[in-house]
Amino acid sequence: MSMPSTVPSAAMAKKRSARDYQFGTRIGEGSYSTVFSALDIHTNKTYAIKVLSKRHIVKEDKIKYVNIEKTTLHRLGQQHPGIVQLYYTFQDESSLFFVLDFAEYGELLSIIRKFGSLSEPVSKYYMCQILDAVKFIHSKGVIHRDLKPENILVAHDFSLKITDFGAAKLLGGNDDSNDEKIDYNGLGEVTPTVSEKDRKGSFVGTAEYVSPELLKHNMCGFEADVWALGCILYQFFNGVPPFKGATEYLTFEKIINVEYSYRSKYPLPQDVIQLIDKILVAEPSQRLTIPQIMSSRWFQEVPWDDLKYIWHRKVPRFEP
Ligand code: ATP
Repeated sequence: MSMPSTVPSAAMAKKRSARDYQFGTRIGEGSYSTVFSALDIHTNKTYAIKVLSKRHIVKEDKIKYVNIEKTTLHRLGQQHPGIVQLYYTFQDESSLFFVLDFAEYGELLSIIRKFGSLSEPVSKYYMCQILDAVKFIHSKGVIHRDLKPENILVAHDFSLKITDFGAAKLLGGNDDSNDEKIDYNGLGEVTPTVSEKDRKGSFVGTAEYVSPELLKHNMCGFEADVWALGCILYQFFNGVPPFKGATEYLTFEKIINVEYSYRSKYPLPQDVIQLIDKILVAEPSQRLTIPQIMSSRWFQEVPWDDLKYIWHRKVPRFEP
């Protein structure tokens, strides 16, 4: 049975507000949010605070996505080192505030761009963390649906943290009833600008990482996240994702035809090529599953149950 909505969540019980933080630099900007670094004045710990404009959320018709992001982060809770933790949420009249783990080195994409591609040891080190985190996410009945190097952040110790659950699908019901309700009253009249027609034609995710089954049949299961993992593994070695056309339409065509080739400056290890080729398979039921990937040859020495090895080992050299 779900809890009545009047029962405050643990985060709410502490009654946090913006006054508990000293806001620092602006880290970045999303389509309806701005992220700041912020110091908790009670503990001196640094967080990332995502400030979402209520007016923008309503105007851009994003209420659903904000709720999904918040609910998912609560569902995944404080249980895994590979997921950005949501510590507190609070709101004022105009904004929502999400207090999150601060990922000091930003997006994994910036690191790939900085080095052009990643070395084999770093690619394996990072793939182990991503697989461990995505396996956990799936075990909680969540499909991320927008995995890509922009949505994987790099913490102070260079370990990874998956973020941006706004496009996620939660299986087995919505458990946000024990949650602080977002108050959009007091904004005055704000009309969403996105029409129903536009929305029906859109898809969740990012063009380059979207799976063929989503494009062809509008189907999206756990296998879609595995497809994105294949694209990310390819990108580690090649610097760019496998399917990239001059336009979104041409990208989709390449994805549907599974049309990609290897263009790395260095020859890829055979085990990696085999792995990518068995992940980037159009038919989702023929695609490798996460346990199958974990037991593939490239990962044969990895002690998957040893979390210290996966998450706290010395980071290998980045340069390929
Ligand atoms: P959109 O909402 O348009 O998809 P987005 O998801 O990147 O964009 P935000 O989540 O607001 O938008 O993030 C804005 C920027 O802040 C991004 O560049 C992101 O890398 C950075 N950022 C977000 N969360 C954190 C965090 N916890 N630690 C460090 N940087 C972060």
